[in-house]
Amino acid sequence: MTIEIDRFRVREGKRVRLKDLPTDIKDLYKSKDDYELILADHVRELSELQTLLYAHHHYSFLLIFQAMDAAGKDSCIKHVMSGVNPQGCLVHSFKRPSGEERDHDFLWRTTRALPERGNIGIFNRSYYEEVLVVKVHPEFLQGQGIPVELLDEKKVWDERYRSIRDLEGHLNRNGTRIAKIFLHVSKGEQRRRFLKRIDEADKNWKFNVEDMAERKYWKQYMQAYEECMEATSTKESPWYVVPADDKKDAQIVVSQIVLDSLRKLKMSFPDPGDAGRKKLLEIRKELEKA
Ligand code: ATP
Ligand code: MG
Repeated sequence: MTIEIDRFRVREGKRVRLKDLPTDIKDLYKSKDDYELILADHVRELSELQTLLYAHHHYSFLLIFQAMDAAGKDSCIKHVMSGVNPQGCLVHSFKRPSGEERDHDFLWRTTRALPERGNIGIFNRSYYEEVLVVKVHPEFLQGQGIPVELLDEKKVWDERYRSIRDLEGHLNRNGTRIAKIFLHVSKGEQRRRFLKRIDEADKNWKFNVEDMAERKYWKQYMQAYEECMEATSTKESPWYVVPADDKKDAQIVVSQIVLDSLRKLKMSFPDPGDAGRKKLLEIRKELEKA
């Protein structure tokens, strides 16, 4: 089953109004069994494409996840990537930067974690935090050690968007394909998930007191996300606003986005060529005798 993903894509240069974009859609599956079948189908093809990506060894694929707390980034990564060979896929989670990380430019720590040719990289949060949480809390910016004469708060966000666009353009020109996912959860659904994390003992560990503080900045975050996606969604490295109030729908959409992104790549298994094939046949004969 193919899901039309274009309706979730942020078009280059277009305004983004998150309150007009759905956090919930008509279910893409008929029942839990149906959901499992659809996802299993996606995961199977994804695994085949990953093998091809690895064998072809020219492209790499970077999938970026950004979202408010409890939007389901972790479970989405877990389910969508469940059938993928762990040797060709690395997940990196980016938390508050360490002292060493803050002592470098804001793209340094993520650049070191970019996927190698043939690999899939997943960023659970990313350099986008630098124009999201840091924009909502400018005191983080002040703590980054940037020379004061270079830090004009009126210009800094546009400069950061430009750095990000330049980086992504550069990666694209060198064979890294990028898709960026914003899991769009409603404030009401976040509340329900927080309550569940408090009420169910085995979910308590997931609840972070700071998450409650960030919830109070919901409006500011939405505005920062809108501005960020408007400035950085490009044809080559698009943002997708994925409705995330229903985790199953979100996982189906995200797996479809990954599939469509990989299907577009011109890839083939390496051809040994006539001489290589001849050599293989000689070895085959030798093996038959052994
Ligand atoms: P989960 O809550 O599902 O475990 P998470 O991604 O929210 O996953 P946390 O450890 O709860 O992980 O939060 C990481 C925090 O680090 C987030 O609040 C995020 O905004 C913050 N963070 C990430 N990058 C930066 C940054 N560059 N500057 C400041 N804060 C950042
Ligand atoms: Mg968190």
